[in-house]
Amino acid sequence: MTNKVERHPTTLLISAAGGNATAIAAIDSPLSRTEYAARGSRLLSSLQGDGAEQAGFFLPSSAHLEMAGAEFCGNATRAAFVAREILGGDRRERITVSGYEGSVLGAAQPSSCDQCGSTCQCGRHFIAWCAFERMQIRTQDCVWSRGRGTLVDLGGIVHFVTWDLWPTESSEVRAYHEAFRDEMDLQNRDAVGLVRLREIRTALGAPADGLLGIFPIVWVRAIDSFFFETSCGSGSIAAAVVAGSGPVVQPSNGVIDVRVEGPFVRLESEMEVLMCTSNG
Ligand SMILES: [Zn+2]
Repeated sequence: MTNKVERHPTTLLISAAGGNATAIAAIDSPLSRTEYAARGSRLLSSLQGDGAEQAGFFLPSSAHLEMAGAEFCGNATRAAFVAREILGGDRRERITVSGYEGSVLGAAQPSSCDQCGSTCQCGRHFIAWCAFERMQIRTQDCVWSRGRGTLVDLGGIVHFVTWDLWPTESSEVRAYHEAFRDEMDLQNRDAVGLVRLREIRTALGAPADGLLGIFPIVWVRAIDSFFFETSCGSGSIAAAVVAGSGPVVQPSNGVIDVRVEGPFVRLESEMEVLMCTSNG
């Protein structure tokens, strides 16, 4: 009898700081770029109703995360460290991710959980961090016909960070985003985000010292996805580049801790496994 080891295809849905869930399918060998986009697009639509805002593929054998649109995603990067904990396989301390050259350090550990107490044993609640030692960050003041802010280019994604308000109707904001991309000549970038900074106030209405909030909207070209992100890792990096390191409050009200020191960037937050399915 042969000792045949079979790895069943597993799909995970993992949220970051209470939102922005990443659908991650575990695969055994790399796909073509076209297949990543096509399968990723299907994976995203199938789990959108469950809160998925982006999709990617994790290869446990090579510890690589490839996003559907080859974009860079800070939340998906931490989700990949959680996926590695769940899937097992190679436990090297570094992984690689699409949209970032070089390897990423990180770890995921069980955090506190309502059911399990201070150390989650049900496998749903984690705290995860990831660190990019040499992130190429280019910033540039940016004025366009409808506002001003800072363009923060992280390579695999470029964000426009601003205090400007923008339309709240979904169709209008899509048009606004498109107009911005056209005017700034960003239509060919893998992913473009608009990140509106917001002041966080205490219950009594005073500004909460050292707390910055963001409203991020991200478009991914290859799969033409467009989301009011409920949390955003790369958008938090961009906000910290403009406004300083520290806790960044997400639209979910969860917090991502961000440290940017020159090219060194570190993200940390709570992560939750919303779904884990195996067909096999
Ligand atoms: Zn638990």
